[in-house]
Amino acid sequence: MRHPEHVIKYLMFGKELEDIGARGLLRKLRDRGSRQGPRIRIEGLDCVNFGSNDYLGLASNPSVIEASVRAAEKWGSGAGASRLLAGGCDLHAQLENLIATIKGAPAALVFGSGYSANTGAIASLASESDALFSDELNHASIIDGCRLSRAETLVYRHRDAGHLEELLLSRKGVRRKIIVTDTVFSMEGDIAPVEELNDLAIANGAVLYLDDAHGTGVLGRGRGALAHAGIAHAPHIVQMGTFSKALGSLGGFIASEGDISGFLVNTARPLIFSTALPPAAVAASIRAAEIMMEEPGLVDRLWENRARLADSLGRIGQGTGNSESPIIPIRAKDAYDATRLSEALLERGFYAPAIRPPAVREPLLRITVTAAHEADDLDRLADALGELL
Ligand SMILES: *Cc1c(COP(=O)(O)O)cnc(C)c1O
Repeated sequence: MRHPEHVIKYLMFGKELEDIGARGLLRKLRDRGSRQGPRIRIEGLDCVNFGSNDYLGLASNPSVIEASVRAAEKWGSGAGASRLLAGGCDLHAQLENLIATIKGAPAALVFGSGYSANTGAIASLASESDALFSDELNHASIIDGCRLSRAETLVYRHRDAGHLEELLLSRKGVRRKIIVTDTVFSMEGDIAPVEELNDLAIANGAVLYLDDAHGTGVLGRGRGALAHAGIAHAPHIVQMGTFSKALGSLGGFIASEGDISGFLVNTARPLIFSTALPPAAVAASIRAAEIMMEEPGLVDRLWENRARLADSLGRIGQGTGNSESPIIPIRAKDAYDATRLSEALLERGFYAPAIRPPAVREPLLRITVTAAHEADDLDRLADALGELL
């Protein structure tokens, strides 16, 4: 016995999937047939990759790979348990010390991913008696963290410190106020007004929680958005970040005061109820962070490439929106147009993904520049875009 076909389709979400397709919003997984890097093979095609967040090209750096291999040999493959149940090893603490130093904070705590760092930390730091103040374009992991916290979440207009101030003043009685923002916004590539937000945090007795996923390894000579803004770490500041982007590995972190770290060890559910990162990933993060600090030329190269692409795009009459980072959005007319642009680029040998709702409000082509691109890659991308736009 079997359900009739129309019932199966209903039970298995076939209708919902068709509806997504009918709106031009169907997503599909595209797996590589090669290493991560400036040149990849995707769906059998060799192309120049403008779709990764591997800003410093460290995911395929030989020394990072070697550190990872050696750690797997020494410490084994899986971590075997949560950090609280001896799933961590010497490497986990070593990475925490290193990232605390880089961020200028007294302590750091490593999570399984940036996503779980945000959902775990925000949900722990805020509860019913508190209020969260969140930029309207914040990353999904922040939005989910706010929801899980059960705190009231007040959403302020994108990068609008004036609106944030109004909202802060409107909540006089709450126990704790926490301002949460992406530093570099992951789709538009623009940067939060960190200095103004910090001033508001101080004036209003609030915590400033910075998601530096795209700032770490990119801004402030690699140290991140706080260093870029010329602000020293302070007790009211929490710097979240990831090892998965510029550092070419996997994992998230919270750099903060020791008390906050200790509190998170005792309360953050993704830390308590999820297995620790595998030693190979932790060793890769350590080596990548060391290289970032030892070889400042790498970050310089990233910014040279970013400037070169922005110039070339200018020559074809294409602006870079509000982007101030290696993330450059190219606006599309609609979701179909974004997909068409991405496909046409792929035929010409360039991979740049179309980003559509619900990830963004207005569909766009998202281009990310890395230190590993050659000048010629950037010039040829601009030429191809010139023909297509
Ligand atoms: C990618 C990203 C995350 C999640 O980090 P992962 O390590 O990939 O889980 C969090 N916040 C922002 C702003 C991001 O872009």
